[in-house]
Amino acid sequence: MVKKPKMKNKKERIVTGITATGKLTLGNYIGAIKNLIEYQNSNNYDIYMFVADLHALSLPIDPDELRKNIKEQLSLYIACGIDYKKTKLFKQSEIIGHSDIFYYLTVISNEGQLKRMTQYKDKAQKNANKTEQIPLGLLMYPILMAGDILIYNADGVIVGQDQKQHLELTRDLAERLLKKYKVDIKIPNPIIAKEGAKIMALKTPTKKMSKSDKDIGETIFLLDDEETIRKKIKTSLTDSENKVYYDIEKKPGVSNLITIYSSIKNISIKEASESLKDENYKNFKEIIANEIIKLLKPIQDKYFSLKEKDIDEAINYNKKEIQSTANEMIEKIKKGFGLN
Ligand code: ATP
Ligand code: MG
Repeated sequence: MVKKPKMKNKKERIVTGITATGKLTLGNYIGAIKNLIEYQNSNNYDIYMFVADLHALSLPIDPDELRKNIKEQLSLYIACGIDYKKTKLFKQSEIIGHSDIFYYLTVISNEGQLKRMTQYKDKAQKNANKTEQIPLGLLMYPILMAGDILIYNADGVIVGQDQKQHLELTRDLAERLLKKYKVDIKIPNPIIAKEGAKIMALKTPTKKMSKSDKDIGETIFLLDDEETIRKKIKTSLTDSENKVYYDIEKKPGVSNLITIYSSIKNISIKEASESLKDENYKNFKEIIANEIIKLLKPIQDKYFSLKEKDIDEAINYNKKEIQSTANEMIEKIKKGFGLN
């Protein structure tokens, strides 16, 4: 096992996690991972990043599939450039306290606020077509998420645009702990990638690209091979105008591809549109596919070179310190509530 150097840390703390509900997507990469790596490499932050395996239980999931997702996700984090010596990498369910804080936050939450969450309304509606009951986990998941952030007393949280509303709830709950129960806790701020924080589905560019989408043609997965990527981009929905420019209302498909390009190239939407404006759709799509392939190839090479022991080492490296940070907040909340 690698020994970890001891140091005092007064840097701002950032937390982020991705649910282990499936294979990671280009949306996850652009909306969360890429941003996190930039923060990591600045060396100015104390970063906590986890695989949200407890969250994966909020809708029914096959245990073997979950086990596979967790491993694959951890490997992909590392393959994307997350360095466990700079970023505290962990599996949510391995740190004791997430379920405790979930309960403490549940008793200061109310049903109305949870039912107003857009993502709950969307997912509940989808689910209602198949089963008569809406799983309670779906309603409660923003509280679990708030717990993941508050347990580490985070200053900031890296999220995609779609999570903004859940972060508002997190802030409300932190304020309740602070004002009513006098818990010494920070009110965390969202950190959202400026542009391209929301990548849309390829065939239905009015909905978000999601790893749990049943139609795999909607999504670019980080482990998709070259041929699959080309095919998915080729069949992505555009329009009949055959002119490349950014207009999210009139041309959601084309605009989404421009967003992907701008994010991978680290240029603004304006610059991206300018450099693509003379292309016909066939060439335009080829350029986008090439950029995605260029981005993913080294990630995939690294992914396939990783061994089980590399993953174990990564999640054990900071485990003690992560647990001790979590314990500290649980103690503060217990005191605030009058439990000790
Ligand atoms: P699920 O379908 O299970 O909800 P997901 O793809 O939405 O999966 P999450 O685990 O909910 O992934 O989110 C992980 C992180 O990725 C969050 O920070 C979220 O904001 C970000 N993210 C997810 N989808 C996108 C997207 N399409 N564009 C940008 N960011 C995204
Ligand atoms: Mg999601």
